[in-house]
Amino acid sequence: MPNLFISELFYSIQGESSYAGLPCIFIRLSGCNLRCKWCDTTYALSKGDVYSLDEIMSFVHKHKVRLVCITGGEPLLQPNVIYLIKSLLNENYKILLETNGSLPINKLPHSVIKVMDLKCPGSGMTGYMYWKNIDYLSKMDEVKFVIGSREDYDWTKDIILKYRLIERCKVLCSPVFNILSPQLLASWILKDHLPVRLQLQLHKYIWGERRGV
Ligand code: SF4
Repeated sequence: MPNLFISELFYSIQGESSYAGLPCIFIRLSGCNLRCKWCDTTYALSKGDVYSLDEIMSFVHKHKVRLVCITGGEPLLQPNVIYLIKSLLNENYKILLETNGSLPINKLPHSVIKVMDLKCPGSGMTGYMYWKNIDYLSKMDEVKFVIGSREDYDWTKDIILKYRLIERCKVLCSPVFNILSPQLLASWILKDHLPVRLQLQLHKYIWGERRGV
């Protein structure tokens, strides 16, 4: 029976992506290969607790929603995640998989919706991006830029243009919470007529900055 290292399992409102606002089951895998300056889940960087696939699936079955978010940490660091994905797909769950953009996504089943970060310079992690992933994105997938400054925003615009991201997938731009004001980012997007989705981390507006939501 495959095991996974888990940071937390919880049921909440999805705060990010184009699925924001929907009830969702979260499976947060522990461990990460990056150390972003703005990391808001530092508690997930450590090893976490071992859960069997059965234990995770029984948590999922307790809730009546069909949307599951596999997140981290970095979920693709654990090869056993594929068993979890297959189990969920076998039971027809819709899966959002949040990944930090540093590891290949091409082995994941097509029907898994990838929500992939492209780390802006302010995060300090741009050098770790696996750029070939952009070729593997489909229209139902989403890329996310977390923007902390005007420099990050200008970089984001350049990357969107260079890789024609708008034609490939959904594009999300999120201000770093409590660092860049949503109003300022909104004004830049509107001025440039940038066809991206401004994303606020809804869960933080509902519950504040805490775990398990
Ligand atoms: S990739 Fe995510 S979990 Fe890892 S350090 Fe960056 S923000 Fe934190």
